[in-house]
Amino acid sequence: MELERHAYDVVVVGAGGAGLRAAIAAHEDGARTAVVCKSLLGKAHTVMAEGGIAAAMGNAYPEDDWRVHFRDTMRGGKMLNHWRMAQLHAQEAPDRVRELEDWGALFDRTPDGLISQRDFGGHRYARLAHVGDRTGLELIRTLQQRTVALGVDVFMECTVTRLLTDEEGITGAFGYWRESGRFVAWEAPSVVLATGGIGKAYKVTSNSWEYTGDGHSLALQAGAGLVNMEFVQFHPTGMVWPPSVRGLLVTESVRGDGGILKNSAGNRFMFDYIPDFFRKETAESEEEADRWYTDKKNNRRPPELLPRDEVARAINSEVKAGRGTEHGGVWLDIASRRPAEYIRKRLPSMYHQFKELADVDITREAMEIGPTCHYVMGGVEVDPDTQEARLPGLFAAGEVAGGMHGSNRLGGNSLSDLLVFGRRAGTAAAEHARKRAGLVELAEDALADAARAALAPFDREGGENPYAVQHDLQQTMHDLVGIIRTAPEMEQALARIAALRDRIAALSVEGHRQYNPGWHLALDLPHLLLVSECIARAALEREESRGGHTRDDFPAADPEWGRTNLVCTRTADGGVTVARQALPQMPPELAEVFEEQP
Ligand code: FAD
Repeated sequence: MELERHAYDVVVVGAGGAGLRAAIAAHEDGARTAVVCKSLLGKAHTVMAEGGIAAAMGNAYPEDDWRVHFRDTMRGGKMLNHWRMAQLHAQEAPDRVRELEDWGALFDRTPDGLISQRDFGGHRYARLAHVGDRTGLELIRTLQQRTVALGVDVFMECTVTRLLTDEEGITGAFGYWRESGRFVAWEAPSVVLATGGIGKAYKVTSNSWEYTGDGHSLALQAGAGLVNMEFVQFHPTGMVWPPSVRGLLVTESVRGDGGILKNSAGNRFMFDYIPDFFRKETAESEEEADRWYTDKKNNRRPPELLPRDEVARAINSEVKAGRGTEHGGVWLDIASRRPAEYIRKRLPSMYHQFKELADVDITREAMEIGPTCHYVMGGVEVDPDTQEARLPGLFAAGEVAGGMHGSNRLGGNSLSDLLVFGRRAGTAAAEHARKRAGLVELAEDALADAARAALAPFDREGGENPYAVQHDLQQTMHDLVGIIRTAPEMEQALARIAALRDRIAALSVEGHRQYNPGWHLALDLPHLLLVSECIARAALEREESRGGHTRDDFPAADPEWGRTNLVCTRTADGGVTVARQALPQMPPELAEVFEEQP
């Protein structure tokens, strides 16, 4: 077999914010480091992040500090977050933002010259450091420049299809060059997964083509556990029209900067959907909500800025009740509330997105929006300090890791998560590699097996078409494991997933290995299927409603479930099993934070 071979201390799979930050940390710790990514360097999904990076820097409100950020994050996640991850995240995010600035990131400024911080749902204070609505682009630009300047090796347009292991843990990874279709293997005692999310399991999503759950699936197959997979975030505001852009994100900054939600009758309906859990900190009247934008100390937040799960469910209910727009959404209106110049300055990308894609001028008209699959809270179960998975030598950071966001992520908390835990994963991976130096070797039979599996779709003739299978899987998840769930529907989903597994085993592709998108999809589909099965199984098991998981047949949150995590692992026959696990106990000194005034 023709195979390109490399040896490193640390191989990072993924070049988004988490992967690049991990690679920088590993390299700075003396590890020979490589980054592998499916797309071109600089094109990772992180580049799409719009609103900003949440960090309690106290620039807008000096009374903000890590404890308030920690509390907001835990409450947003309905207390199911791993407390230690939420603590580290809140404590370290400000330093990670300042470090980014030292490395050349140009954030928007306050009149006093500090990094400007904007409001976002679920955050007590204006806390998101931002660059207009193109924060992800600046973050990636800065990290990428540093990665390249340090001399980290980058394998771009290269897909990892398998993790390689021995009895002691990780030994490396196997993949293929997308352009030539040729195989490549990396020997390494440490692998950091930073592969992002799973949005392409759903029909309507804000996620790009890369989000096929590869890292989740690779980790599971190698023996790691996935925690909280039932929690999928549907962002309340995706475009709904025209169909070609359905699902594309409309940033939460539109609401943070004054936008409100209205139904087809013109009513500002979010006041009808304030849950008791958030009532104390949410405005009671439109007048109070509107005053909040200029006086946050004496007024409470508008209900449009409730956490995303609450807003997405409210929109879903309005549409179901027949008060939606013609295309099945609701209206998001900033045009009648802010001057055109302000909108163009604060939300330049949104302005262009609607103008160019929907021929809507958002400085004059409302936007038609609806929920879109956006983020997965579930991911690889990791140690909170090192990001190491159950499998020695395997680390995970960013969206592919689980635990940090509990049952629902607050906006802005992902970019900070990438920086905080990317760095921690890189450092720990370098340390692990030092301990295992000279002790790992790639097994020839495992390499041959990985190559055989990758080529199998070429060997079958007249089998299933990958695009048809992907369509059916996305439709299944959309219809049966979406925002609102019931047991019979999820049982039906699992039956369809079982049938899809047989179809995936019969996939066939035509042509040759050079840049063959049908083949690439055929290799992504088993990942998407495995991840979909984890989501459906965990969602069926959790008989309560919490955060990004709403059961029509169990509409309330259950205190017992509030102390329980679900962890998916792989069975010997390639299926998925779900086990209950006690939530890690928060120490009393941290629990005190929740007794303080919100
Ligand atoms: P990514 O940036 O997605 O990187 C994944 C990397 O893994 C890519 O390089 C990809 O090529 C690579 N990869 C995947 N599979 C493989 C494989 N098999 N082999 C090799 N490489 C592989 N969060 C915020 O905090 N603030 C925001 O304002 C914000 N705005 C958002 C706007 C949009 C439109 C979207 C979709 C998300 C937004 N988010 C935001 C969420 C946030 O952007 C993501 O959660 C975050 O960028 C994920 O980063 P990551 O490093 O984990 O993964």
